[in-house]
Amino acid sequence: MNLADKIRSVPDFPKKGIVFKDITTLLQDGPALQHAIQRMKMLFDHESIDMVVGIESRGFIFGAILAHSWGVGFVPVRKPGKLPAQTFQETYALEYGSDRLEMHVDALKPGQRALIVDDLLATGGTVAATERLIARAGAQVCGACFLIELDFLNGRNKLGSYRIESLVHVSEES
Ligand code: AMP
Repeated sequence: MNLADKIRSVPDFPKKGIVFKDITTLLQDGPALQHAIQRMKMLFDHESIDMVVGIESRGFIFGAILAHSWGVGFVPVRKPGKLPAQTFQETYALEYGSDRLEMHVDALKPGQRALIVDDLLATGGTVAATERLIARAGAQVCGACFLIELDFLNGRNKLGSYRIESLVHVSEES
């Protein structure tokens, strides 16, 4: 199955010049969703993973299913002001301005091995901030898994030296 065919490209969303990779078309296709999850699971089946860390909001979908498939816990990394208890906070640069991500301070225990999951790796700023949140908890990143990677933005160069896997590679803006 070609997963790339299941992802819809929407030009000029959310603003002019951005080609938005819409994964809802893949999510609504049962066999495609199952195939994507099975491939993600196979890629990290032999790693020792204590916790899956999913990034709001589309990382929650793939991350929670993967966590369930391994019988490990799931930690949400969220946009500002959404988590109710004490949080670590990390700011990261956007094209214009900055944004912040938060994680509960007790979500991960020191020494735990965390797999980061999101739908898409673009510039890498979001995942780099998530890495810092995990490090502040004393845990370590054992890998990162994405449905889509925009290769032309070289996001993986911003990330640590752990295993990074993406099911669909996009080589140019289209
Ligand atoms: P970045 O921090 O630049 O790697 O951006 C990654 C985050 O932004 C992910 O959570 C993606 O869901 C979202 N994102 C960035 N670019 C796109 C795009 N072209 N299409 C869909 N989502 C995107």
